[in-house]
Amino acid sequence: MKRLWLLPVALLAACGGQPSGAVRFMGGPRIRSADPDNRAAESYCLTCGTKAYIGISKCPNGKCQQKLTWSETYPCGFCGATGDCRACRVLDQAGSACFNCKGTGVITYEGRTPQCPQCKGTGKCGICAGSGKCDLCKGNKKLTKTEVEELVKKLDKKGGEEAKP
Ligand SMILES: [Zn+2]
Ligand SMILES: [Zn+2]
Ligand SMILES: [Zn+2]
Ligand SMILES: [Zn+2]
Repeated sequence: MKRLWLLPVALLAACGGQPSGAVRFMGGPRIRSADPDNRAAESYCLTCGTKAYIGISKCPNGKCQQKLTWSETYPCGFCGATGDCRACRVLDQAGSACFNCKGTGVITYEGRTPQCPQCKGTGKCGICAGSGKCDLCKGNKKLTKTEVEELVKKLDKKGGEEAKP
């Protein structure tokens, strides 16, 4: 019978306290629509700093072997957890209107009005499409563990380690 009541106690212990795994965000933010999306994330052991894939239960560093726990949500590192579109703020785009054409969708020069290349004629911010919200966290100010994992995978594809300056 002992095991039956020991299990819930163990689960409670695992849930308490600060997570021992942490995440740092890299790259970005995107300001103009032509900017490449190089945003990624790296997850690591908070105790020794060794890179540890988000969600794993033990630090891969043989000397550390810290038991790792992970938070379910992370403050979005690309909008400073404000949920606001960085491009709109940096370019001072009032009402999330395209900075290049002032929301008209066209550029006027020498009597001609070609489509604005920045917003492709929409007149809206090329990053948030006029919502004014961070295009990554969608204005939620935080990212879920699953969303962060996608960013971690992106960094791994690029060869992770070399992202250090
Ligand atoms: Zn460690
Ligand atoms: Zn915007
Ligand atoms: Zn425009
Ligand atoms: Zn965000």
